[in-house]
Amino acid sequence: MNETLVITGARLLGAESADIIVENGVIAEIGTSLSRSGARVVDAAGLIALPGLVDLHTHLREPGYEASETILTGTRAAASGGFTAVFAMPNTSPVADTAGVVEQELALGEAAGYATVQPIGAVTVGQKGERLAELGAMATSRARVRVFSDDGFCVFDPLIMRRALEYVKSFGGVIAQHAQDPRLTEGAQMNEGTVSAELGLAGWPAVAEESIIARDVLLAEHVGSRLHVCHLSTAGSVDIIRWAKKRGIDVTAEVTPHHLLLTDELVRGYDARYKVNPPLRREEDVLAVREGLADGTIDIVATDHAPHPSESKACEWQAAANGMVGLESALRVVHRSMVETGLIGWEDVARVMSATPARIGRLSGHGTPLEVGAPAHIALYDASVAGVFTESDLHGRSVNSPYLGRDLPGRVEYTVHGGLLTVDGGAVVEELRA
Ligand SMILES: [Zn+2]
Repeated sequence: MNETLVITGARLLGAESADIIVENGVIAEIGTSLSRSGARVVDAAGLIALPGLVDLHTHLREPGYEASETILTGTRAAASGGFTAVFAMPNTSPVADTAGVVEQELALGEAAGYATVQPIGAVTVGQKGERLAELGAMATSRARVRVFSDDGFCVFDPLIMRRALEYVKSFGGVIAQHAQDPRLTEGAQMNEGTVSAELGLAGWPAVAEESIIARDVLLAEHVGSRLHVCHLSTAGSVDIIRWAKKRGIDVTAEVTPHHLLLTDELVRGYDARYKVNPPLRREEDVLAVREGLADGTIDIVATDHAPHPSESKACEWQAAANGMVGLESALRVVHRSMVETGLIGWEDVARVMSATPARIGRLSGHGTPLEVGAPAHIALYDASVAGVFTESDLHGRSVNSPYLGRDLPGRVEYTVHGGLLTVDGGAVVEELRA
């Protein structure tokens, strides 16, 4: 039995401040001057109450790469960022391409308790792009997989992509594509443009992303299936998605926090914390993806949280691994890039970081508005503070954040997952009450 919480004075979206009673894992009452004897009182005066955030794109690294992250440490990082559910990418070892592996991940998430872990299944066996994995077996397993991705790799063969799109239709699944033409990006080190030319680094051209997205929206249209585009990063990609949606194609797209804020100018310092795939793009691209997110062309923000041990980052640019951790900083970066700029409001934040990712991933019980009877997944955010982002803000096993030393607004004060406090007064709860 969970403890009863009385959350007082929270700023509910589109409403006055109110008290929220959480009992037995659900929101039992919303009103004013509420109390319960023996309940834990959470003073949320001035804090924005968001539905628990949902990340459609997380790398938890377990099984196989536990030196970088585990399901326990990754979900602690998630909780600290206000997330109550994360979709775990399948590029583990073994690859999550069978019912056995996804069920193991699900069980590890349940045991950890910090956030709901929803496994994503691989599209192809071993993510090798050669033959379809057991999509149906993963869908009907206890993990109920609905999102399939070879993320890290592009499903490059158009016939395999077509078959995958066709296969998942029968159970409402979606193929989440990592759009990268492998031939056009061989040896790529950063965005292809004026900065890469000046630095003499091999470039990753925008067309390598855009050509795959263009092909895939047409394939999705042809077979009448559902496509999701991972970490869209260029102005041209926004145009293609806008065109596809206007045409009625069933496509959704995500952008990462780092593509909303950072540009390829940062590569000039050769600090490998800024090395990521797809790479940081030009200022024009950053402005275009912001606009795309604001006007609904891009549906969601997803972190692409990608932990790496320090030896993979504290090395020469060319030898360094791609990827950044992002769960702990995502909401603060969206606050800076989208809310402070006046492009979206907090209700939109709830939509792009909670409701819509849950809907795309068909994850029930998450992303719902904070209403009586809803599961108690809540993030309480202080938007009035600001501070330098430091290693003490990181709660996973890796510290490859591009924001270390950078000033960011906001702070997650409390996170409630299924009625359980996972973050209390800004600190991750060490021992969860079960
Ligand atoms: Zn990817």
